[in-house]
Amino acid sequence: MTEIIIEGVLFVALVVTIATLCYFLILYFTPVGVRLRQTRNRRQIDRAADLVCPIHGPRATTDLVRLTSGDVMCPDCYKETVHG
Ligand SMILES: [Zn+2]
Repeated sequence: MTEIIIEGVLFVALVVTIATLCYFLILYFTPVGVRLRQTRNRRQIDRAADLVCPIHGPRATTDLVRLTSGDVMCPDCYKETVHG
């Protein structure tokens, strides 16, 4: 019984290892990996640009105000807009 369990665990570990190896080979040695990295870079730059208020400058993610529409806004702009 123990041998069957050990064999099953080892088989699952082998499958996971092969899948991980294939994932990293695709990610680092194919054009698909380059495309995924470029997309990730674009998203990172877009997120950083979303944190910069054109009037008040850069803000931390935790300082932003989430509106009821789901958008986020600079806290100073929110105060000026809502409370005058
Ligand atoms: Zn602002």
